[in-house]
Amino acid sequence: MTVFASCLGHPRIGVARELKKALESFWAKKSSAEALEGVASSLRRRHWEAMKSAGIDFVPSNDFSLYDHVLDAAVMVGAVPARYRGIEDRLMRYFAMARGLQDRGAGVDVPALEMTKWFDTNYHYIVPELEEGQAFQLDATKLLAELEEARALGVETRPVILGPVTLLLLSKVASGGKGEPLDHLEALLPVYEQLLAQLAERHVGWVQIDEPCLVLDLSARARQAYEVALKRLAGSVRRPKILVATYFGALGDNLSLVREGGCEGLHVDLVRAPEQLDAVLAGLGAETVLSVGVVDGRNIWRTDLDAAHGLVLRAVARLGAARVIVAPSCSLLHVPVDLAAEKKLDAELKGWLAFAAQKLDEVRALAGAAESEQPSGVIFEEARVALSGRRASPRTRNPAVRARTAAVTEVMKRRAAPFADRATKQRARFQLPALPTTTIGSFPQTGDVRGARAAWRAGKMSEADYQEFLQAETRRCVEKQEALGLDVLVHGEFERTDMVEYFGERLEGYAFTENGWVQSYGSRCVKPPVLFGDVVRPEAMTVEWSRYAQSLTKRPMKGMLTGPVTILQWSFVRDDQPRSETCLQIALAIRDEVVDLEAGGIPIIQVDEPAIREGLPLRRGDWAAYLQWAVDAFRVATSGVRDETQIQTHMCYSEFSDILDSIAALDADVLLIETSRSRMELLVDFGQFRYPNDVGPGVYDIHSPRVPSTEEMVELLERAAQVLPVERLWVNPDCGLKTRGWPEVEGALVGMVEAAKRARARL
Ligand code: GLN
Ligand code: ZN
Repeated sequence: MTVFASCLGHPRIGVARELKKALESFWAKKSSAEALEGVASSLRRRHWEAMKSAGIDFVPSNDFSLYDHVLDAAVMVGAVPARYRGIEDRLMRYFAMARGLQDRGAGVDVPALEMTKWFDTNYHYIVPELEEGQAFQLDATKLLAELEEARALGVETRPVILGPVTLLLLSKVASGGKGEPLDHLEALLPVYEQLLAQLAERHVGWVQIDEPCLVLDLSARARQAYEVALKRLAGSVRRPKILVATYFGALGDNLSLVREGGCEGLHVDLVRAPEQLDAVLAGLGAETVLSVGVVDGRNIWRTDLDAAHGLVLRAVARLGAARVIVAPSCSLLHVPVDLAAEKKLDAELKGWLAFAAQKLDEVRALAGAAESEQPSGVIFEEARVALSGRRASPRTRNPAVRARTAAVTEVMKRRAAPFADRATKQRARFQLPALPTTTIGSFPQTGDVRGARAAWRAGKMSEADYQEFLQAETRRCVEKQEALGLDVLVHGEFERTDMVEYFGERLEGYAFTENGWVQSYGSRCVKPPVLFGDVVRPEAMTVEWSRYAQSLTKRPMKGMLTGPVTILQWSFVRDDQPRSETCLQIALAIRDEVVDLEAGGIPIIQVDEPAIREGLPLRRGDWAAYLQWAVDAFRVATSGVRDETQIQTHMCYSEFSDILDSIAALDADVLLIETSRSRMELLVDFGQFRYPNDVGPGVYDIHSPRVPSTEEMVELLERAAQVLPVERLWVNPDCGLKTRGWPEVEGALVGMVEAAKRARARL
């Protein structure tokens, strides 16, 4: 008896981002639907063949998507809102839901469905929208086509389906509609039953039903929904065997729901939650097959195969080989495709990594060794060598850094004086008007800026010319801000492509890949830097640019940094120590930069933490511990300065009502937040909470090219002044301006400065 190897999902985008290119060319009407489908189909084929030749027994289908698997599931069950139903063409309708459709000629103008983060990942899914009296109808076109496509290639697959309860829990009720998504469960289940019957008719052996919501804290209502749904699916008269897939955390109490449900298989994530293995082994149904996710589907490190093997062995000892499947912890969607595509990484570092292709080999090796006590073979040997090398390497362990994190004191986490005293000194120093105006940092990264950077990177522009170009851009930006009449200026961030990459490139402990792309949403990909070692700041990272900008003006210039939590959150982070420890190392590097900026004469320093909220753990019970170290890291980073130096911070996607005490605990002198899209509703919470420090509620939405009217902005300020003292309010846009063009930015900022003037007169 051998243990099977499986894969829950393959990255879709292609090693060279083929899908991205095909999609964008199709959207730009430069290529046909057939051409897009051709690329998609060759990617699926390539991925199936890769999994087959890696020796994977359970190969997925329907894991591929032209945009998003949650949207695919919504389409599959017929949850297509009325406003899209008139669009005849299937593909057009699908993309209209994904990204909106504007076709003036045809008189169509529909916005996209909402998009939000998939659990605690950086992948964004499309939020299905349910109408009142929503009728569901099975549309298995895509799923069946992919099943048959694989069969034609001689590959028998295990189709992946997003489960009914997770689908509903991730959906929203259309605005104006009553009730909650779970109200639709009864109407939805027959569609799944039909689908299972169709798969049985086609002699499909197994399906994978993804129910990641089983790792969340569930309401009584949601638990009840699981009780009903899993029993109904298992009770379907004709169906394949069902593997219920959970990932990103532990099942905890929800395990009993799965056991009672009576499906044939369960997948658990033993990378994020290895401690759940005993409970799962003890609580599993008497015949249930267990898929053990022991290879990290969320990170890029080579697996500690001996440790993973230990987990597999425990499962085999308890259940017998026939009831164990080895798998990655979750879909490989969240990791890049193939390490072999990296030509520039040094051999040592490369030896520490594994992308999707390498992870499949690891899964296969673990399955093959599942019944031997002492696994041998090349891949195990290599893993041992790499791991011990990584553990001992001076690149991952720097005694000076470790001594410094160990010596962090409470005093280092506190500004010298309380906010009220600092505010008095800062007021005296800056002499700003009431409702001071500022921006979030970046100004338009025009084609010129990107072109110059590309030319410089390609060696076609000299270093000196590039520096001169950036200086000219910065100078122009400072002049414009002065002319606009802004009170606190920024340098514009022209020298940065990305707010994490810029710092990663200047810190030791970071590496960059050439092709390490992962899908963020639709055709959008990100290439997170790899944080592999102890973090050292060899020299100041931003001081020169800030000093240059300050030299051009008498008004206060803000230094501009990214905070430790955001740098951590948007990187692939080392897994050989707690994230909190890594975060503290980054915090100390940023602290040094903050102190250097102050010494360089920069009076105000903004430390952006847009990712602080998305770092929240999935289970509420884990929030406090995370918030503690996240807040501490920010405070360590920002507390090294004098009372007269002002610390600002910025956060976007600000859903903070449940963590306001932690936001206040950051103790930034000024908090600049996104609020305009919620029409300042967020500020009501701040008011009720009596948020103690200064706040700059964004008065206009930078995500749209629309230039807001001055009166609109005045109105928003008036609302803000109703809930917070006007002396503590700032005036600023919602976020950085780098994606906008100069004309709209100038238009909006003229209006914003004018709005501040009018509001000063009225309030
Ligand atoms: N300072 C950054 C900018 O203006 C902040 C970006 C962000 O919030 N994501 O671009
Ligand atoms: Zn922002």
